[in-house]
Amino acid sequence: MRKAIFPGSFDPVTVGHVDIVTRAIPLFDEIVVAVGINRSKKSFLPMETRLEMLERTFEDYPNVRVASYEGVTVDFAQAQGIGFMLRGLRNAQDLDYENYVAQINKFLAAEMETVFLIGSPDVSHISSSMVREIVACKRSVEGLVPDAALQLMPPLD
Ligand code: ADP
Repeated sequence: MRKAIFPGSFDPVTVGHVDIVTRAIPLFDEIVVAVGINRSKKSFLPMETRLEMLERTFEDYPNVRVASYEGVTVDFAQAQGIGFMLRGLRNAQDLDYENYVAQINKFLAAEMETVFLIGSPDVSHISSSMVREIVACKRSVEGLVPDAALQLMPPLD
């Protein structure tokens, strides 16, 4: 079975993440969207909210599973029998950073292959940090966060 992990903070999930996952569905038997627990990094949304947003977003996709993990991503992936790491690329900065991460992962787990998809032009500018900034300006993030997850965003006032 061809399984991929799509790891990230998803703080919050955006339509950019959905673009990558849905376009990868034909490539894999199962995609595990996995939220990394980083105790040293203060998050915008609690872990439970981020997971629930992802559950709602992907509830109609039987081959997409949502999980959380602590520690090294490739260790979690290998323990789950996952052989591919899915990542999205928005721009040259993403490529620089993702190249670095992929090299480290190759060192840690030689069998793990990282697969990159370039973000679709209509959503490739969208990031979780952009969503957080718009929320800080007390503006709606409709169209940036998937509709199924919008209700779980903090109220604007
Ligand atoms: P991280 O916390 O590791 O940056 P994110 O939750 O921001 O993780 O994103 C997870 C993955 O989704 C990364 O590979 C990131 O490049 C990709 N991604 C996020 N937004 C987009 C987008 N708009 N288009 C393409 N890829 C994206």
